[in-house]
Amino acid sequence: MISSAEGGTPAGAGPTDTDWAAALAAVRGLPTDARVLLICHVNPDGDALGSMLGFGLGLRRRGVRHLQATFPGPPQVPEPFRWLPGLDLLVPQDDAYPEPDLVICFDAASESRLGDLADRLDKAGTVLVLDHHASNTGFGDIHLVDPHAAATSVVAEGLLDRLGVPLDAEIATCLYVALSTDTGSFRFEATTPEVHRMAARLLATGIRPGDISRRIFDTRPFGAVRLFGEVLGRARLEPAAAAGRGLVWTYATHDDLARYDQPAYVLEALIDSVRCTAEADVSCVVKQVAPAEWAVSLRSKGAVDVSRVAIALGGGGHRFAAGFTGRGTVDEVMDRIRAELTA
Ligand code: AMP
Ligand code: MN
Ligand code: MN
Repeated sequence: MISSAEGGTPAGAGPTDTDWAAALAAVRGLPTDARVLLICHVNPDGDALGSMLGFGLGLRRRGVRHLQATFPGPPQVPEPFRWLPGLDLLVPQDDAYPEPDLVICFDAASESRLGDLADRLDKAGTVLVLDHHASNTGFGDIHLVDPHAAATSVVAEGLLDRLGVPLDAEIATCLYVALSTDTGSFRFEATTPEVHRMAARLLATGIRPGDISRRIFDTRPFGAVRLFGEVLGRARLEPAAAAGRGLVWTYATHDDLARYDQPAYVLEALIDSVRCTAEADVSCVVKQVAPAEWAVSLRSKGAVDVSRVAIALGGGGHRFAAGFTGRGTVDEVMDRIRAELTA
């Protein structure tokens, strides 16, 4: 790996012309037999998968022949994304090129989000990072990190455009999934005029937003509907938490999933039901990943910077949507969150 650019661009500023030029050179300069490995973050969401696969399809159109996409952990794509174009690019992490010429990372704020695939960064010729987390650590060689971008797919579209790759319906589908996921279907604050202009460019390829939204947001197995009923039924409201701004939270265990015969991904949508609570600014869902390990999702309506809480507890994310891995019991994890919220 080439050493990181000294005094590289602070993540807050977004990519400079020099960063874009370096990224273009890294892609344009690839020899025809170059091996290119795309990696997105662990437990991939719509932005991670959509920006990676959309960009991968663009590279394929450019004639990149040795091209793989992957993510750390079990190779299963969450059911809502199992129809995305470009899934044939995916390989399990163990099959990923051990020494790629170019690695491109998507939607990962730090190396830790790449799990066991972080070793590819040291073995790669060049590491290009596409991301939009303000907390991005600056890992890799070339940084297209724009904290003002609503999704990593905004950065990916910018690079495809500069490479002269035209949007087609398959690329647009992937990028639309990514954009609509990270903007909460164009509801969140990040939904700028530029987001809608990008959505317009994507829709102009003929893709069907109703079908896409139904598949990724509005479809879940009946067992998951009933599981949500039980998990939401045990939600707790703590009006005094977060200095009186209020906290609402719940948790789900492997037992809960087993009782309703559901895969873990169905729990990703839970936070959207919990965060509706009018009486709380902060919402939280604690999801079991191992006996004493929990994936924690935090959201804020705007009064609390939950990325500060997540970073303090070893994770990361955005001001109003963040997460971390909690250890111990649910009560221990919640105690640490309460303490950080009052800090
Ligand atoms: P989630 O609650 O999983 O939808 O994640 C919300 C945001 O927090 C995303 O932008 C993630 O990038 C970030 N995030 C979630 N979990 C972690 C973690 N364990 N470490 C760092 N960032 C995380
Ligand atoms: Mn993501
Ligand atoms: Mn994202």
